[in-house]
Amino acid sequence: MINTNEILTRYSLRLTKTLGQNFLTDANIIRKITDAGEISEKDLVIEVGPGIGALTVSLAKKAGKVIAIEIDRKLMPALEETTGSFDNIELVNADVLKVDISGLIDGWPGNVKVISNLPYYVTTPIIMMFLEGNYPIERMVLMVQKEVAQRITAAPKTKDYGALTVGVQALGIPKILFNVSRNCFIPKPEVDSAVVRIIISDELKKKIIDHRIFHECVKAAFSQRRKTLLNSLGSSPFLDIDRETVRELLSVLNLKEQTRGEELSVDQFVLLSNLIAEKTAQGEMR
Ligand code: SAM
Repeated sequence: MINTNEILTRYSLRLTKTLGQNFLTDANIIRKITDAGEISEKDLVIEVGPGIGALTVSLAKKAGKVIAIEIDRKLMPALEETTGSFDNIELVNADVLKVDISGLIDGWPGNVKVISNLPYYVTTPIIMMFLEGNYPIERMVLMVQKEVAQRITAAPKTKDYGALTVGVQALGIPKILFNVSRNCFIPKPEVDSAVVRIIISDELKKKIIDHRIFHECVKAAFSQRRKTLLNSLGSSPFLDIDRETVRELLSVLNLKEQTRGEELSVDQFVLLSNLIAEKTAQGEMR
């Protein structure tokens, strides 16, 4: 196990709050996250934000390869030292939101798994980036803020139900695995944490006709929670559809005109976006 305090002192590293730098120091939690990955030598693990490598090393002991993407250049010398004895770790010094994920995954014959203690300031964009990219990812095991874990696993018509819930549950099966105490990090975060596992399902993925339209539809539906679907979808600049057509599609699904996004189940979102995709394709053929 990496001695975080010793490394931070030796490299004179001061952690940056705005980059979400709360490092895991609890060997038991690191083991539990690694176990939740059910990692084998056939797996490629993508780790977002390795920090100084505490989780990275644990993942690399099980995986065929770990690609660890760290934004903070000042951590790289320490990270190179802690991961140096592993020839299956590739370090990438970049913003994960700007990296060519397909290029990193391309050609890997086995499963791809995203496992990370996420930087909390950018959790939703990172999760959505992996989902919207429709990459061949088998699962994600993510440490997130407890409230985010609740949003990911929420049910319709609750306050936690939103674009993140639908985006995740349309493609995968999420589960909150365990909570993590604030004492397991240096420095102590100001929020509670939980680890969620999302198993991505090919069967669910195949139900969606057009992934871009599906995600745009979900984003538009929740962009203003109080708006009806008729207004939000009918006025979205990213969906090629007018209010009249939305009205027609809602009636096909037996939904009232006043229906709002938060009232739709995940399945209903998929059905609605598929109807929009069909209409859009018909429009383009004309
Ligand atoms: N994996 C380490 C651990 O568990 O101890 C560190 C986790 S810490 C919560 C999040 C890490 O993500 C930090 O090292 C931070 O610098 C990095 N990070 C923040 N924003 C990032 C981004 N956009 N792309 C890649 N890494 C990022």
